[in-house]
Amino acid sequence: MTHQFDVIIVGAGGAGLRAAVEIGGQYSCAVLTKVHPLRSHTGAAQGGVCAALGNLEEDNPEWHAFDTIKGSDYLGDQDAIEVMCNDAPRAVIELEHMGMPFSRTAEGKIAQRQFGGHTRPLDRDDPDSKRVAVQRACYSADRTGQAMLNTLYENSLKNNVRFFSEFFVTELLYADGVASGVVAIEILTGEIHVFHAKAVMFATGGDGRIWRITSNAHVGTGDGFMLAYNAGLPLEDMEFMQFHPTGLWKLGILVSEAARGEGGILRNKDGERFMERYAPTVKDLAPRDMVSRAIIQEIREGRGIKGSDGTEYVLLDLTHLDIKIITEKIPEIVGFARTYLGVEPTKEGVPVQPTAHYVMGGIPTDVDGRVRLDHKDGIVKGFYAAGECACVSVHGANRLGTNSLLDLIVFGRRGGKAIVEFLKSGAEFAPLPPNAGEATKSKTVEIKSRTSGNKPAPLRTEMQQLMMDDCGIFRDAKGLQSALDRIGELREKYKTVVIDDKGNQFNTDLLEAIELGNLLDTAQLVVTCALNRTETRGGHAREDFPDRDDHNWLKHTFASKNGDGNPRLEYRPVAITKYQPKKRVY
Ligand SMILES: Cc1cc2nc3c(=O)[nH]c(=O)nc-3n(C[C@H](O)[C@H](O)[C@H](O)COP(=O)(O)OP(=O)(O)OC[C@H]3O[C@@H](n4cnc5c(N)ncnc54)[C@H](O)[C@@H]3O)c2cc1C
Repeated sequence: MTHQFDVIIVGAGGAGLRAAVEIGGQYSCAVLTKVHPLRSHTGAAQGGVCAALGNLEEDNPEWHAFDTIKGSDYLGDQDAIEVMCNDAPRAVIELEHMGMPFSRTAEGKIAQRQFGGHTRPLDRDDPDSKRVAVQRACYSADRTGQAMLNTLYENSLKNNVRFFSEFFVTELLYADGVASGVVAIEILTGEIHVFHAKAVMFATGGDGRIWRITSNAHVGTGDGFMLAYNAGLPLEDMEFMQFHPTGLWKLGILVSEAARGEGGILRNKDGERFMERYAPTVKDLAPRDMVSRAIIQEIREGRGIKGSDGTEYVLLDLTHLDIKIITEKIPEIVGFARTYLGVEPTKEGVPVQPTAHYVMGGIPTDVDGRVRLDHKDGIVKGFYAAGECACVSVHGANRLGTNSLLDLIVFGRRGGKAIVEFLKSGAEFAPLPPNAGEATKSKTVEIKSRTSGNKPAPLRTEMQQLMMDDCGIFRDAKGLQSALDRIGELREKYKTVVIDDKGNQFNTDLLEAIELGNLLDTAQLVVTCALNRTETRGGHAREDFPDRDDHNWLKHTFASKNGDGNPRLEYRPVAITKYQPKKRVY
């Protein structure tokens, strides 16, 4: 079946929905999503969305921009960061006006709390003066993403956006610098649909499921990255994956940084507040890359706590917090500790370990969501990306907490506006490629008709473990090369992937097999880029190259598919406006 809409958005998380709100009502706009919109991962976001509103103490978008640049280990593009931080107060108030139920101060203003890496200078006129944590994260208790997602979904419905829920997108239709639509499998029936559009936006989220311990939902399989890459487009900075310091031990389920923002403290087996040694000023509220490395360091030096299965963790201590803070500001995460680990956080420390959390890289775009054709200044006609799958790049080598929800509402809106401008300028439907949909059809028939081969689950488990072991928080050439070889072997085995369910209806066996293909291809790219970058910067820590190397590596990686199917790597300079790179201390 073929459908026509002015705009197709793939992904119903915060980014896709914020763009849809902008377009709906003006042009025909359909959102495709593989899960119900309200099950998008944005709904799992806990801690907050930041903006220098200054509701509780003095703050300033300029300070926010400085923190984001420093947090990014100077890899973020400073012009894009300025756009985001300057727009943040407006974007948050706009959400409030759309109906988002924020937590409030006693006076009724939007409440704000501290988060890692968000600071203010003690001397307001000197950015180099000592900096202390600032209350910049706006929140709805510890369910901020859910409040945001519901608000944007309701506003999309109000603006006549059409939803195709449980449609699994398998191809971007793209040729010669122009996008013309997508191909999707309707999960309920197995039917293949072609969506023809003047503009396509990807807002497909992240790929945390490449790693065994992850905070990401099951849908975080990096589909969008591979659909763009396999269509011939580049991906930027894929080596930069953020590990969040506090996942529940063994499970990876997130304990938001809000817990530390509200006063929680990390302790090692001796009860020591070890972050005092790594970041003497901001301590537990240092940026995530530093805290995650510190936890691993403590464990390596024998100060971790051994669990029943031999793996080690540290403790997140909330026992000293006022019970009112626990019940009103972080009820959800305290509940997770009780439910999943049987721990009572008001009385004992919560066992935590770093968890794969957020993709800093992605589909390269300009500040208006327009996808870059190459590492120079080329732009793809009719193709846009926003949210976690996009790389603007505002997060550089390490994202600060609460800057992602902000990224969604700032760049989702800007992408939506740019699409409206594109349509107003008289954009037409580009012709669909001949046989659109045939590739997906033959792929599904091939997988379903295979009677022997490799089952997806063991391949996935092996990939997730090897990525934890060799492409996690600390990396080196030996481990990365071994990871690359083993992923190569898994990709070979994947060529004969076999599934049990041969039916058409709700064939999740088939979907998971296709997702595994995307995961393996993304993993290969992540490891290739990580092996190539011989320095340590933000979330990419090379033990064999422990220093940041601005002389050779102050640049973005652009990976595209070569004729032989292997990645080709090129580079784009970092945009620097005001702040020259400096040593990063907190
Ligand atoms: C547990 C957790 C807590 C977090 N807390 C915070 C926080 O407090 N503050 C903050 O700033 N950030 C937080 N983050 C990060 C932030 O929530 C995410 O980066 C952000 O929500 C991603 O939004 P998105 O719109 O890009 O995509 P998502 O919300 O991930 O949505 C992706 C969408 O794409 C669709 N999709 C993907 N592939 C396909 C396909 N092949 N076909 C069809 N549809 C597809 C999915 O169905 C989904 O609708 C958190 C992340 C996690 C995991």
